[in-house]
Amino acid sequence: MKHFFNRGTAAALAVCFLLLLSGCGAAAPNPAASGERSRVKVVATDFPAYDFARAVCGTEADAELLLPPGTESHSYEPTPRDILDVGGCDLFIYVGGESDAWVDTILQSLDHPVKTLKMTQCVELLPEETAPGMTSREERSQGESAELDEHVWTSPANAALIVEAVGQAMEKLDPEHAAAYRENAGGYAAQIRQLDEAFKTFFSGVKNPTMVFGDRFPLRYFAQEYGITCYAAFPGCSAQTEPSAATVAFLTDKVRTEKLSTVYYIEFSNHLVADSIAEAAGVGTALFHSCHNVSREDLDSGATYVSLMRGNLETLKKTMR
Ligand SMILES: [Zn+2]
Repeated sequence: MKHFFNRGTAAALAVCFLLLLSGCGAAAPNPAASGERSRVKVVATDFPAYDFARAVCGTEADAELLLPPGTESHSYEPTPRDILDVGGCDLFIYVGGESDAWVDTILQSLDHPVKTLKMTQCVELLPEETAPGMTSREERSQGESAELDEHVWTSPANAALIVEAVGQAMEKLDPEHAAAYRENAGGYAAQIRQLDEAFKTFFSGVKNPTMVFGDRFPLRYFAQEYGITCYAAFPGCSAQTEPSAATVAFLTDKVRTEKLSTVYYIEFSNHLVADSIAEAAGVGTALFHSCHNVSREDLDSGATYVSLMRGNLETLKKTMR
């Protein structure tokens, strides 16, 4: 998976942080160090981690989303401000995959350890899938083993497990509010399991659960959970945007032979590839939200993991038989 992180970023961050430590930068006081803050603060890198933390914290603690809304999580470059945010929090939740490898730079820059929780450590991991027809990553040499897919939250069953893990971490961290965290985590995990049941019920009535993504494919766990056969232009969150002619032809043919009504694309995509396949096959396109991150509008209007996934279910009901 070719992500956009580079070593230059790591060096620049290290320098910035040293400047902040030595007082040359505009360093904000660390509330944890100065003892001004009594409420527990959780910082999460991306939207699913933030949403789960927010649900568990409820009114007892504060959750903060590190990535600005609308940011492509794979091309993100952390700022010195992010280092301060992470250094000043009580629990830091991140994916723990290749896309947020930049997190290690932040953690190594801190002068004190911060409690962390990786979403990829809460569930069983699957290898990233390279389905027939995909324009694969170029940099993987033959015989190199597939890397583990990090998009664990796309399966609601996994999401419920992650919520419970966040709940347990919060109970340990802040025993005074343990009962509230347990109740919040239990309540949100139950909502997510209802969603899981709704997907199962839907897919049990679908004769041909096949989806074609004219896009990247961060939905390995979702597809595995519900037994969906998926085809996509690129594996995982590959940085590639130009599919080969063979990939486009293969996917167009799949749409025709499987008699599919729709080619799917994911959020923040320009959906050019999905559009061209759909046009060639004479079908429509639809957004399937992988919940990596949300737009400012979504965040302001109260979008949650559950509301986005319910939106996906409604899309599937309209586009799949
Ligand atoms: Zn991704």
